[in-house]
Parts: sequence; C-alpha cells; structure tokens
Amino acid sequence: MPSLCVFGAQWGDEGKGKIIDHLAADVTHVVRYQGGSNAGHTVVVGAEKYVLHLVPSGVLHPGKVNVIANGVAVDPLLLLEEIDGLIARGVAVSSANLRLSARAHVILQHHRRLDALAERWRGEGRIGTTGRGIGPCYADKAARVGLRVCDLLDPARLESGLRVALAEKNALIQSVHGDTPLDLGEQLDLYGRLAERLSSFVGDTGAELRDAHRAGAAILFEAAQGVMLDVDHGTYPYVTSSNTGVDGIPAGVGFPPQWIGRAVGIAKAYCTRVGEGPFPSEEHGPRGAELREAGNEYGATTGRPRRCGWLDVVALRYALELNGATSWIMTNLDVLSGLGDVPVAVAYRREGRRFETFPAELSSLDAVEVEYEHRPGWTEDLTGIRRFEDLPRAARNYVEWVEASVRVPIETLSIGPRRDQVIHRS
Ligand code: GDP
Repeated sequence: MPSLCVFGAQWGDEGKGKIIDHLAADVTHVVRYQGGSNAGHTVVVGAEKYVLHLVPSGVLHPGKVNVIANGVAVDPLLLLEEIDGLIARGVAVSSANLRLSARAHVILQHHRRLDALAERWRGEGRIGTTGRGIGPCYADKAARVGLRVCDLLDPARLESGLRVALAEKNALIQSVHGDTPLDLGEQLDLYGRLAERLSSFVGDTGAELRDAHRAGAAILFEAAQGVMLDVDHGTYPYVTSSNTGVDGIPAGVGFPPQWIGRAVGIAKAYCTRVGEGPFPSEEHGPRGAELREAGNEYGATTGRPRRCGWLDVVALRYALELNGATSWIMTNLDVLSGLGDVPVAVAYRREGRRFETFPAELSSLDAVEVEYEHRPGWTEDLTGIRRFEDLPRAARNYVEWVEASVRVPIETLSIGPRRDQVIHRS
C-alpha cells in the first residue's frame, strides 16, 4: 500500500477518526502533522469509545508507529494526560509506538491564557477558538520566538527561552488584559518535569519517516480539522492556524510531497461547522436541529453543539480538487435516514450571477444565496448494511448523484460509528 493522506474535506468533524482507525490496519505508520489538541478524533473499538486529541489514531492498533510531527502545536501537559489516560485503559504507549518531533512547537501556559484573553476582546469579531493556545503558539512560531520540544529538553535553553517569553507575555497579560502574570519559577518547574517525562518519545521524526519510506513503509498522514478551515485556503479569518490538507505535509513532517501516493478526502453526507464563520448551506430551521440530534452533532473536545446544514457540492468539489484527492469517503450516510428529502447546495448566486466555484473573499460568501437541488430521501436504517447493492434505491441514487457532481470517486461509505460499519465500493 502506498503512503496516503487522509484529510477532512469540509469544516472538520467529518468522522476522520473512525476512517483513519479503519485504514490504520493496513499501514505501518500513522502521522499527525498539523493543528493541536483542538482536534478531537472519536474512535469506537468494540464497546470502548476513545477521544484522541494529539496522539494519532494508530495507537489503538498494536504494532503501529505513531508520530506527532513537527507541524503539530504540542501542549505537553495535555499530551501526557492523554498518554496516561490511554495507558490506564490498557492501551500500550511507549517510545516504540509513539514518536514526538524535536522540532514541534510547544504550547505553554501563556499561550492558553492569551488565547482566551484575546478572544474576550474581539466581541462580535471573535473567531470562536477553542482557547487552547494553538493560534498564539503558531503566531510565536512565525514570529520566531516560539519554544520547541528540543528547547524543553535542554534546561539552559528552557530557562532562557521562558524568561524572554514571559517578560513580553506577562507585560501583555498585565497591562493590556489586566490579568495576573505567570510566575517564571513555577513555569520552569512545571515544564522541566514534563520534559523529563516526554524525553523518551523525542526524536528527528522527519528523518525517521524518510528512512521508513525508503525501507518500504506505508505511512498514513492524518489531518486534523478540515480543508475549509485551512489557514491559506479556507474561510479566512474563520479558520484554524495551520494547513489542514495535503499542503501541510511537506512542511509539517519533513516529507517530500512526491512520496505521498494517495490523497483521500473525508466528508459527511451533510455538513457541520463549529464556531463562527461562513457556512452557506447552514440549515437554520427545525431541520437543522433534527440533523444535530440524528447525527449527535456535539463537539468531541468542547461539547459545543455544531451548526448543521446540507451537503455543499461547491465547497466539497473545491476541497477535493485543491488536494488532488484520488478518492473520497462519505461518512454519516445513516444519519439522513428518515429525515425526508435531502437538499444539496449545487451553486451560489450573487447579484444575479450564478457560480459553482468557491469564492476567496469572505464578503461574497456572506451575501450569497444558495441554490439547492432536492434529492429523494429514504426511511430505512442503513447501519446493518454492508453491500452497496443492499442500500435503498434512494440512498444509492444520492451517493451516485453526489459522486457525479463532485467528479471524484467515492471509495467507501460509512454508515455508523463502529469499525465494521463501512461499505466498500469497487
Ligand atoms: P473527526 O474529528 O473528523 O474524527 O470527527 P469526530 O470524531 O469529531 O466526529 C465523528 C463522530 O461521528 C464520532 O462520534 C464518530 O463516532 C461518529 N461517526 C463516525 N462515522 C460515522 C458514521 O458513518 N455514522 C454515524 N452515525 N456516526 C459516525
């Protein structure tokens, strides 16, 4: 099996966790390469439900190497909590199956604090961040004042780096936000202890993965969030702070793009979005609430109710094309059972003009009117079906019609949260 990238082709929460877990069985390595602990993949194994924030989903498969690459913003406190939580539930986690890049940037307490404080100031213009310090950490990376995992492991560099960082961040916290400053001694003590516990996992993961590739490894690059939240190609500024598609791999891993064999997008049979920002096919009426209940659309990390709406072919085609998707996987098809006819956004209209491409400027999205095509629905429960031919005719038609509209083949359908609830198409 060639190496592949699995990415979210909507606004995140497409069910990537389950699909990655499913595909992980056939690879040797699973790599996270962007984002931070704001991602929450949910994986159901038998009767057990795991919510993974930083550790790649391959950890639930014995014998896989899981890598947190340099593009991830790593909160050491949360990472260790996650590792301890997995070990407590009987999942083996050691330096043999979990690797952490020495080059990854570290989320420190002041990043978290400033994330929440800054959002408070934005009022109406708030971005809807999860407040986990990821944006401020990436901002420091770009400003070249961030601390990396390798700095944590070197007591002298940790001391000097934290001293410089806190001098500036505490001034901001106190004089701009009127909040209490962080204590250098306490922070040094905390991160010194965390570094000691993390050290066995740390290495040059880019080099390790390039070596593995040359030795014939099959590597799965798992993206977090979704392409519509990509900092460059999504609905800026209502986006996350990293590149959420195939584009994030070369820089976020240290892996040549021409070695990535396949790009597989994941999209739900409808759409959801968490936080602020444009969502053209959002359903504001009672049918939106129905979708939310049927799909249990509440955030894995925050518990926030997700905004719900219909599949948007304009946005999906854009996301798949941008990443050169070789195929895609439609999840949550089961959720549409019994919900009546299924509207799908097929074009946007603005000032009398009809267009089928995704616009770059936010203002044109704010003003767009969405043109829907209504597809016939079905009432049957799909969760026990394992062959495409056994799906109700209307569900089959829906899948085939969507596939023709986005012009990228659907390789698999997901019809429930469990590992075995998939339908493969030839
Ligand atoms: P991710 O961030 O893309 O991994 O998505 P989440 O894990 O936040 O959300 C996916 C949720 O949907 C989880 O609770 C999954 O267990 C569940 N799920 C995944 N695939 C399906 C599916 O095909 N049908 C249904 N009903 N639930 C699914």
